[in-house]
Amino acid sequence: MTDVLYINGRFSTTDERVIGVEDRGFQFGDAVYEVFKFVRKRPIFLADHYRRLESGLRAIEIRSPWDEVYFGVVVHELLDRTEFEDGIVYVQVTRGESERAHFYREDLQPTVVAYSRRYTFPDAAKKERGVRLISTTDQRWLHCDVKSVNLLANALAKKKAQRAGADEVLLLRDGLVREGASSSFFAVNGGKLITHPLDEHILPGVVRDRVISLALSSRIRVDERPLREAELFHLDEAFTTSTTQGVMPVCEIDGRIIGNGRRGELTTQLQELFDDAEARLAS
Ligand code: PLP
Repeated sequence: MTDVLYINGRFSTTDERVIGVEDRGFQFGDAVYEVFKFVRKRPIFLADHYRRLESGLRAIEIRSPWDEVYFGVVVHELLDRTEFEDGIVYVQVTRGESERAHFYREDLQPTVVAYSRRYTFPDAAKKERGVRLISTTDQRWLHCDVKSVNLLANALAKKKAQRAGADEVLLLRDGLVREGASSSFFAVNGGKLITHPLDEHILPGVVRDRVISLALSSRIRVDERPLREAELFHLDEAFTTSTTQGVMPVCEIDGRIIGNGRRGELTTQLQELFDDAEARLAS
């Protein structure tokens, strides 16, 4: 079965080949993207994803192709046309297509693509078992707050993790823990959460933001500061957050067991709170 595709104002399927070879997304990685989840055809945290997409477009000076209302109309029609109930939608906006040149014209028509995809979200056993991480040097550019399609450093780092039998990498720069290659990172120590502050070193994760709010409303302290690499040796618990994996316990980093190697108490509490918040949006 093919997936539903939206491209520059019309609907098609992902079978159709739609991007020109001189599209700047293809040639220069001159584009931003979003991934959001839908459950029972309801998009989850759509406004947050729209806001982040818009702020990325502004940061790299691409004209926005839609306003929030039109974006919502496209998303809802895409989901109506989709044959399955749960999955993800990938959205990409590129600067557009023109003769290849580093200098870009300012009057380009952005290329807009969105498509739905089936996705196997983690089951209860995976959410309890958690993931293994390895640490590696962060080789990304210094504008990681923009969700740019330039994911080569992330992909190479992730492959390293896979070859080491791990699920995700923890990216380190200047002796500080930044985030995962496709997830935000939280440490738990002495009953409080520690996570990197919002700046150019990390993506402002939608789930990160939700988890911080849920923690604060449960009177759990949150320190937004970079964790030093040495602190990784003394963690009570750790977890990653992302749209596709939710709150995911970390059981091991570089072969060292975190806590007692099982999903920790605070991680469990926040995982439940987050899953409930998501479930409420889908009902
Ligand atoms: N950090 C990076 C580098 C990511 O690529 C992602 C998701 O793809 C995240 C964090 C998590 O972001 P979100 O919670 O919005 O899915």
